[in-house]
Amino acid sequence: MRNAGLGGWPARRARMSPNRTAFVFDGRAVTYAWVHERTTRLASSLRGAGVRTGDRVAYLGPNHVAFAETMFATHLLGGIFVPLNFRLTASEIAYMVEDSGASVLVYAPECATVVRDLPGLPGLRTTVALESPAPGEREYETFLSGGDATPIDTPVALDDIALILYTSGTTGRPKGAMLSHTNLVWNCFNIMVGVDVASTEVTLISAPLFHVAALNQTLLPTFLKGGTSLIMPFWDVDSCYDLIEKHRVTWMFGVTAMFAALARSPRWADADLSSLRTLMSGGAAIPVALIRTYQQRGLVFCQGYGLTETSPGATFLEAGESVRKVGSAGVPVFFANIRVVRPDGSEAEAGEAGEVHIQGPNVTPGYWRNPEATAAALTEGGWFRSGDIATLDDEGHLHIVDRLKDMYISGGENVYPAEVEGVLFGHPAVAEAAVVGVPDEKWGEVGRAFVVPRDGVALTAAELTDFLRSRLAKYKIPVYFDIVDTLPRTGSGKILKPELRTRLLPPGAAP
Ligand code: AMP
Repeated sequence: MRNAGLGGWPARRARMSPNRTAFVFDGRAVTYAWVHERTTRLASSLRGAGVRTGDRVAYLGPNHVAFAETMFATHLLGGIFVPLNFRLTASEIAYMVEDSGASVLVYAPECATVVRDLPGLPGLRTTVALESPAPGEREYETFLSGGDATPIDTPVALDDIALILYTSGTTGRPKGAMLSHTNLVWNCFNIMVGVDVASTEVTLISAPLFHVAALNQTLLPTFLKGGTSLIMPFWDVDSCYDLIEKHRVTWMFGVTAMFAALARSPRWADADLSSLRTLMSGGAAIPVALIRTYQQRGLVFCQGYGLTETSPGATFLEAGESVRKVGSAGVPVFFANIRVVRPDGSEAEAGEAGEVHIQGPNVTPGYWRNPEATAAALTEGGWFRSGDIATLDDEGHLHIVDRLKDMYISGGENVYPAEVEGVLFGHPAVAEAAVVGVPDEKWGEVGRAFVVPRDGVALTAAELTDFLRSRLAKYKIPVYFDIVDTLPRTGSGKILKPELRTRLLPPGAAP
């Protein structure tokens, strides 16, 4: 087989274990042989639609077995898969489709309105709807079954690009982080070393697959080992409990908000969680109190720290260490190095805070068609600058303490205030705006906007929310708006965000 990348995985898996269950979706179990046949047919249809080596295929929708099929089919042709966040608005999606130059877009019915609202995108030649295609679009099942099942053997090298993942930035538009097949494979190895993934694994895919964490911390390692992935389209507490109990789930990845919601549910006390072997949390630090709540049920977390650009695992705290090193993000994953550096580039001492740099085969080769952003993010020695501030303790365990980059995390989604502020500035009555993240019990953090209106104009929170709604995904819209006369600034004119972050919310402020 000349395909060294992920596109070859369904064929290789089908050869080894054709009858094992690869995915359970919508109550239906499908085998590795089934996945292999369907991805081959889909690849054949995509080839018919003009997809060749290096071409981009975008996917927009909640978790679905079609996500995996489209990804593997794209990779079978040597193409690049571009998963899109289904919570974004039409203008945000249009930017990503155009920037990536995707020629095919596959979308789910939940995203039909957004797709209808897309402006004309000349590079987008084929749009495939999972259901109810609009005129000019293809219907997924018909499109797929129109392809033939003759094996496809396009040469693909491990260093070829497999994914473009859009991450917002502190300045300007989102950037497309590229991940190669090599990056993804090494991350799978790191996970397999860290959590001892088994072929008997029943993994709950509960976080959205467009994010590399759900895809590459759980689905891909499970697939590689021949385990079963249960694909949840949307996460909710009751379905999560139902699936864990019915399918005897062994492994689940989630963000703090999910684990907190499970523990708050009335089902927490009586649920049968005896099958769970691995709970993995990531994306943000998990509160110690929550770790303790789970420990009382005999459930331990392994934790990870990482970024999209590091595929994502950079550090890992084994379950066995989760009690002793509670609150730490762990040590470097097996096949990567980390260092904590001072602003002058020298290495910090143990206990001294500095920026986390990561080096290893899981680190991105750079940003799609963005050499400036690539040069800014990677040092000459191939170290990736994370923008996170941390300390290393005497035992080499990482403790994340702050962020250099202006960002907060709401329900597992990163929000870059610069992007929200940029949109607020577009409102004709806004003179100045500053957005910060503030603690929130349910979402971890939510946005708080401080807005200075233009002279003499009255502005309301409702008006600003309305303005943002059509321009930004819901999770990026601040929950609190403070209409103020001035913003606090440093002598050099920089807005004092630390001061804004600690300002008390006005009494009675409510989302
Ligand atoms: P993303 O690129 O969406 O994966 O977001 C990466 C960012 O999430 C990192 O740069 C950190 O700021 C944050 N993050 C990820 N894992 C953790 C963790 N375990 N503790 C604290 N912050 C984290």
